[in-house]
Amino acid sequence: MALLDVENLKMYYGTLRGQVRAVDDVSFQVASKESLGLAGESGCGKTSVALTILRLLPWNAKIVGGSIKLAGEDVVKMRESQLQKEIRWKRISMIFQGAMNALHPTYTIGAQITEAILTHEKVGKEEALERATKLIELVGMEPSRVKRYPHELSGGMKQRAVTAMALACNPDLVIADEPTTALDVIVQAQVLEVMKDLRNRLGISMLVISHDLALIAETCNKIAIMYAGKIIENGDVAYIFKEPLHPYTQKLITAFPSVIGPRTELSSIHGFPPDLLNPPPGCRFHPRCEHAMEICRKKEPPLIEIGNNRYVACHLHEGRKT
Ligand code: SF4
Repeated sequence: MALLDVENLKMYYGTLRGQVRAVDDVSFQVASKESLGLAGESGCGKTSVALTILRLLPWNAKIVGGSIKLAGEDVVKMRESQLQKEIRWKRISMIFQGAMNALHPTYTIGAQITEAILTHEKVGKEEALERATKLIELVGMEPSRVKRYPHELSGGMKQRAVTAMALACNPDLVIADEPTTALDVIVQAQVLEVMKDLRNRLGISMLVISHDLALIAETCNKIAIMYAGKIIENGDVAYIFKEPLHPYTQKLITAFPSVIGPRTELSSIHGFPPDLLNPPPGCRFHPRCEHAMEICRKKEPPLIEIGNNRYVACHLHEGRKT
């Protein structure tokens, strides 16, 4: 059984202009000790998926279908009190985008990690501080940094501190939303090393959300590509980077410098992602797709397995088996 099994998940935002179908029939799994990268352009629904998994949604958002099973238990059916007591922090924690800038400026790093532990577990202050110090060491910082305030740390150190905070209650799954955005490339590489090391040493599962394919190639063993609220390709990182099948994945990969294989010329994806208030019929990528056929404008391609645990939603590949 997968640790996290998201099936046919639909989450819509209600607006004055109608329903925004931000997460529209999304299915994927994260196995124990596995790291899945969720990639796609800004606004494709990646962060909405993460917030839905943790049920941290704004008032105008509603889960209208599907399930989110954590070790077999459906998070969608849980009460808020159960989510607070048993799920958030303890089973699933999240490193929010820009979290390092949200550290409380008047509390030390140690105090902030300690507070997270004390809020969710019945332990004494001394034990919580001891654990906070160990976590700080675990993410590659000097133990003495527990006494530092956020303004005394560099961007990379702050990112390590929020990573330590996410690990405070020994979660099974950590969701990291754009964990290296706003860091320079050298610090990004250091943070990536910390993430890889933690996954190997602690055996935690990770869901890494990013538009940066190099980051996903570095940290994840599987990747799911999202477009306009849907997963359009899903499989092992090595397979997908070597031979992307969906035309959007192909474009996305050639829009970034190569991370596997020789250097290639970069290209751009013409046009814009659709308005999810009124997405195009059929394949949502068809207005931007160079291979669009008549059927693409009328019928939505289902996400089908083509072998080797690889899934693709494109009429070009229907009936294909690897
Ligand atoms: Fe392009 Fe059609 Fe495949 Fe969509 S289904 S990606 S429009 S070929």
